[in-house]
Amino acid sequence: EVSADQVKRMMERVAQKVVESEPYLTEIDLKIGDGDHGTGMKRGFLAVQKMLLDLKVDSCEGVFRAVGTCLLDTMGGASGVLFGTVFISGIVKREERNSFKLSDFAEIFSTSLTSLKKRGKAKVGDKTMVDALEPAVLALEEGAKEGLDLIEGFQRAALAAEKGMEYTKTIKARFGRAKYFGDKAIGLQDAGATSVYIIFQAMSDFLK
Ligand code: ADP
Ligand code: MG
Ligand code: MG
Repeated sequence: EVSADQVKRMMERVAQKVVESEPYLTEIDLKIGDGDHGTGMKRGFLAVQKMLLDLKVDSCEGVFRAVGTCLLDTMGGASGVLFGTVFISGIVKREERNSFKLSDFAEIFSTSLTSLKKRGKAKVGDKTMVDALEPAVLALEEGAKEGLDLIEGFQRAALAAEKGMEYTKTIKARFGRAKYFGDKAIGLQDAGATSVYIIFQAMSDFLK
């Protein structure tokens, strides 16, 4: 289990990693998009870092809500909504808790994935962040079912997200500017899927 305070520190780690990854994310989105993904993510997670500094932690869900709201308010654009959804949708209907088990994270991210897919209409195979998020969520769910602890569960999820990110290199895009690349998109990885991998890897590293 992790306490609400640890969830906050976990999100601090995530924010730091995303901010550090700005040049890498920019490079990826420049090759296949409009090059703004890195700066958008950096803007959002810099705001998250600032917000977390004086967040009074009352529950694990509260930390997720604060992070998601911050991303929605500061990132702007389509991906602000999409990444805000990842942290908010899963917690809105839950009772607030003071600690999270692997099954809590699995439940939350699973609900968020459903709502992300509903909102964005993308499925696995469309070369979007869904290609990394869906396998990561499945790994969390399977891990929880098998009774894995948080460390093992998130290790698997990060690995699954990484594979999903790699998979986006092999397919054509059906959304965003990348769609107009057609076959030229093959060999290039999706920026949003890369961000999802960075987020899950940071959560996994925090737990180790
Ligand atoms: P924009 O495309 O508006 O410039 P970003 O560059 O910040 O926004 O984000 C692009 C990323 O958003 C893509 O790499 C992809 O992973 C994700 N994305 C775009 N459209 C969708 C969608 N309909 N569903 C899910 N993810 C999407
Ligand atoms: Mg872009
Ligand atoms: Mg853009």
